[in-house]
Amino acid sequence: MERPPPGKVEDLATLAKLDEKILLDELKLRYYNNEIYTYVGDILIAVNPFRDIGIYDDLTSYKYNLAKKDEHPPHIFAIADSAYQCMIGHGGRTPENQCILISGESGAGKTESTKLIIKQLVELCHGNTQLEQQILQVNPLLEAFGNAQTLMNDNSSRFGKYIQLMFHNGQVLGAKISEYLLEKSRLVHQGVGEESFHIFYYMMAGLPKSKQEQFFLAAPERYRYLVNGTSGISKDKQTSKVKYEELLNALDLVGFTDEEQYDMFTIVTSVLHLGNVSFEEKDDDSVEVHDMNPVKVIAKLLCVDSEDIAGTMTSIITHTRGEQVTRHYTKSQAEEARDAVAKVLYGRLFGWIVNKVNQLLAPTYNVRSEECREIGILDIFGFEHFEKNSFEQACINLANEQLQFFFNQHVFKQEQEEYIREGIDWNEIKFVDNKPLLDLFLGRPMGLLSILDEESRFPRATDITLVTKYNQKFEGNSYYKAAKGSNDNKFTINHYAGQVTYTAEGWLEKNRDTLPPGVMEMLQASQNTLVKSIFRAQVTRTGTLSMQARKSTRHTRKGHRPSLDAARKRKLTTGGQFKNSLHVLMERMTAAKPMFIRCLKPNHVKAPGKFDEKYIQQQLLYTGMLETTKIRREGFAVRPSFEDFVNKYKVILCKPTLSGTRDNCTKILQATKIKGWQVGKTKVFLKYYHIDQITEVLETMG
Ligand code: ADP
Ligand code: MG
Repeated sequence: MERPPPGKVEDLATLAKLDEKILLDELKLRYYNNEIYTYVGDILIAVNPFRDIGIYDDLTSYKYNLAKKDEHPPHIFAIADSAYQCMIGHGGRTPENQCILISGESGAGKTESTKLIIKQLVELCHGNTQLEQQILQVNPLLEAFGNAQTLMNDNSSRFGKYIQLMFHNGQVLGAKISEYLLEKSRLVHQGVGEESFHIFYYMMAGLPKSKQEQFFLAAPERYRYLVNGTSGISKDKQTSKVKYEELLNALDLVGFTDEEQYDMFTIVTSVLHLGNVSFEEKDDDSVEVHDMNPVKVIAKLLCVDSEDIAGTMTSIITHTRGEQVTRHYTKSQAEEARDAVAKVLYGRLFGWIVNKVNQLLAPTYNVRSEECREIGILDIFGFEHFEKNSFEQACINLANEQLQFFFNQHVFKQEQEEYIREGIDWNEIKFVDNKPLLDLFLGRPMGLLSILDEESRFPRATDITLVTKYNQKFEGNSYYKAAKGSNDNKFTINHYAGQVTYTAEGWLEKNRDTLPPGVMEMLQASQNTLVKSIFRAQVTRTGTLSMQARKSTRHTRKGHRPSLDAARKRKLTTGGQFKNSLHVLMERMTAAKPMFIRCLKPNHVKAPGKFDEKYIQQQLLYTGMLETTKIRREGFAVRPSFEDFVNKYKVILCKPTLSGTRDNCTKILQATKIKGWQVGKTKVFLKYYHIDQITEVLETMG
């Protein structure tokens, strides 16, 4: 019963002494020893090794197959195994749906963890191999279209996802993916040192010459959307080519037809060509397309009229009292319209891909739904705090507040339930409740999002009027701070993970998420099968975001573009959609038994073997890790069964044949004269320090 030396503690909740420094030192020692995984009770901490540490091989996978938790060192496979065991009801448990929440900063290892969990789950149920192969290929497929190189991560997911794996009799039946908030703005602009979505580079490196010609493709450097930052193209062409082949393989395996693949690439390339459309101002204050060539290419690719494209990007036609009035765009309005078309094309394509994957992986056998169980895995963007924080950051941080709330509720609730179940006498365990922050965001009509929706309905509202309203309504709210200076469009929120100052610039437009009038109608009239189908009408995808609501389905004819009024019809705002999908997600997760994985990023430079103490400490702080460990530890961290306890300590009573009953446990504990333990209905409840104390008793006995 010797206490393990520093760095050898596999469960931090069993530490005798606990403070920030001890927590940090343990993780650091373990990290340098290649022990990247550590438990805090039932929670797993994973510190990104940034290199292959060779612990995901078949043998390891086999070791963590229906294993006991303390049989092997902490491992992500153990989490998968435990979720699987609980899901099938292994060892006489009641089968339960599971969800695994993976959190952490960008580059901390969430997506890799997700893939490892899925890999292990598939290992555990070795059933329908084709379906399993399809499921494993979904990640590379989605990553090609939804991931990009950023400063934080070379393979950064620019969308959140919840993957549900469905099972029947322990065999995987199918899968379903929900995606959240694809970062479409990346298409038209990337920061210094960052790139657009991988797919563009993969295609350019991998497409055979003949196909390049069909898509009218030139070298990547020729496309403004790829070189508009100062980043240029940094990807290695050979690697991209390999990735392209992998993508084609994944598309084939998952079940996308050749025609569908061709159409997907058509849309992707047309986005590139869109970026090369530029405008020039004329003397009469109107703008026109500078060079019709890219427009003609887009028209060919998307099977729409080139004059229609040019028209919708340069002017609005309104109808006032029966008269048709043409209002010309300014140059920057035209550029915005062009970018909006690119974003809606790509965004809808991504949504369609997810939908298609869901159709292809939907359970096919006839199994009654009450006999099905599922394991959901959440891989969603971590808390974001940049120099400039906009609407996207507010949504992402709201999601993180919601998850932290869920985490708190669960960690607290589970503890409480076990004590009640076991009839334990206990004092309420405190945790920092972030409910006021959820109310600040989600309250109705007095929440940030509701007020934003209200303002979004006023055509004359500006970011300043919005923030002025916020300042009025949230005066005295301790989580909200108005910026200094009366005319500012900034405000500060006191998040659980720290203060973030937001800039309301562009929030109204982002929230309204309206397309320039005529764009939808133009695309709906396309003769390209895929374009037509993705713009047919509102695609119903529960729990997904940022789809343009159904608008007028009137088709466009040349010179008869629909009026502005049609475009203004009330639809769900971006904030409203996000709120809904968050709600659906929470409902799903609440109906399942959650497990938590906290990914930590050991340094800013994506380097192996580098443990930046300050940086890790920050992450521990805002994820409330010290508190969580304390909560886990202040409770009864050690909970042996009667049998185990008696077996270990019967020597105290000098009775080698003692049986594992409740009474005998009590007798042993009374003999030790230690204080504060409790005996429940099936287990002994001990504090972390009791083991030391009992060991001392044993030692004095000799
Ligand atoms: P996130 O999804 O949290 O932004 P990723 O999962 O994409 O982060 O991880 C970023 C990078 O870190 C990966 O591309 C990989 O190089 C490395 N990485 C993450 N987890 C592991 C791991 N368990 N073993 C080895 N490398 C890892
Ligand atoms: Mg990721």
